[in-house]
Amino acid sequence: MHETAVAESILQTILQHAEETGAKPTGAIISCGQFNALNDECMQFAFEAAAGGTICEGMNLTIKHIPLQAKCKQCRVTFEFNIYSPVCSQCESAEYDFESDAPLLLETIEFEDETQ
Ligand SMILES: [Zn+2]
Repeated sequence: MHETAVAESILQTILQHAEETGAKPTGAIISCGQFNALNDECMQFAFEAAAGGTICEGMNLTIKHIPLQAKCKQCRVTFEFNIYSPVCSQCESAEYDFESDAPLLLETIEFEDETQ
């Protein structure tokens, strides 16, 4: 399962940061693109399983899905690709190129004793 590997790798990164700062992590924000999209439920489950018994247990995990951008070959506009309406948002052409997909990224880690 894709999510298990991702959860373990993210957990390792968070544990490392927690060790450096000496604070208890309370939440994390992950972003992912469309081709490597994470299933929210699988991810939450996998992370909980991986984090059990560590300082990360009970952390609040947020998954942001970054839309895929496409560039129209007709009118050159860049638009958010929508799988339910896969045409250019401006001229409705079906001729377009995909821009590069957003990478899987650990964006933010929140710690308990942050003052702001
Ligand atoms: Zn267009």
